[in-house]
Amino acid sequence: MITEEQALTRILDKLRPLPPRLVPLVEARDRFAAEDVFANVALPRFDNSAMDGYAVVAAACAEGAEQRLIGEQPAGPDRQLRIEPGETVRVFTGAPIPAGADAVVMQEDVRREGADVFVNTKVEPGEFIRRRGVDLSEGQQIVEAGTRLAAQTLALLASQGFAEVQTGGEARVTIVSTGDELVTPGDTLSPGQIFDSNSVLLRALVEKCHGWAVNVRLCPDEVSSIESALREGLTSDVLIIVGGVSVGARDLVKPALDVVGAETDLWRVLVKPGKPFLFGRAGDCSIFGLPGNPVSAFVTFLLFVRPAILRLIGARDAELELPRTNASLVEDVPNEGDRPHYVRGRLKDGKFSAIGRQESHALYGLSRANALLRVPPGEIFRRGETVSVIPLD
Ligand code: AMP
Ligand code: MG
Repeated sequence: MITEEQALTRILDKLRPLPPRLVPLVEARDRFAAEDVFANVALPRFDNSAMDGYAVVAAACAEGAEQRLIGEQPAGPDRQLRIEPGETVRVFTGAPIPAGADAVVMQEDVRREGADVFVNTKVEPGEFIRRRGVDLSEGQQIVEAGTRLAAQTLALLASQGFAEVQTGGEARVTIVSTGDELVTPGDTLSPGQIFDSNSVLLRALVEKCHGWAVNVRLCPDEVSSIESALREGLTSDVLIIVGGVSVGARDLVKPALDVVGAETDLWRVLVKPGKPFLFGRAGDCSIFGLPGNPVSAFVTFLLFVRPAILRLIGARDAELELPRTNASLVEDVPNEGDRPHYVRGRLKDGKFSAIGRQESHALYGLSRANALLRVPPGEIFRRGETVSVIPLD
């Protein structure tokens, strides 16, 4: 059996980012930039006032000195005003600074009598002027290829006059849940049946990492149905098939993959939960076979499917890793098994404690967890120890 690291390397080695797409800024949030972007507009674009006040020549502003008001410059078109020492222009936040002025006095610090303005404070040159380019210069890099486009990055792109941005391609994902026992939520259960919760789980996880679930379907444990579901799913970029990948006589996914001509690149990984995980390819489609137990499906999605989708949609390598944070352990967490164990737990105020049943079927326990702790085989993490955990939200 191979390790998680080996499995992930093998998967990522097979994947190339999808062709980039030019998308409007308003649709680009949380997509990944497909290219480096450089500034073509300095920020601020011109010297402007940081306050509502009066533009002055600082040297002519001894305390109490009178300034003659010669005009007004709001934020907006530059009126090309010019002042001499002893003159002033009324300005507002964001207004271009009139030629000759080297400071702005806040309106709270003057007394006005008609066209006479008396400055009640000491004025330093440069005061309350936001200089051109102090935040950003032309030519400076503003976006790195492969980074996530957050709201503030989109705002920066907009400040440069861009209406669109090149982003990574869209990963179209098909999800197939297999099992004779499964019933769609909302329908009626017969004895021996359970509701299909994995479809909802996986769809939500796909959307969270910005894949696009184009098709979600149920499929009975029947070779011909699985085959036709596979054939249909192979037109997607990613096919996730959940359940039926173990070694039982009713585990029909592997044989069905052979029939449709898919290559199985790996099957069974040293991880708990999630050992029966499978990865294969058919044409341009990446196929992920996840074990049906909900916690196994959850963990193997995070470990293997999430980074694959992120790679396809143009994320750089650093973005593929799960987030990590340090926490101190509230109790001993042992792993007596021979596979790394992803223990579900609660992270609160920097402290981690295991929560709920730790078997792979225990969906309620999983639902109460907000972090995972990976415990290597044969290891005991001790109470009070600082460990690195994976926050889930
Ligand atoms: P399997 O991987 O098909 O052997 O299924 C392992 C366990 O997961 C069984 O108890 C199944 O009933 C359960 N299971 C499989 N698929 C789903 C699903 N879509 N939703 C909820 N439980 C499932
Ligand atoms: Mg099954």
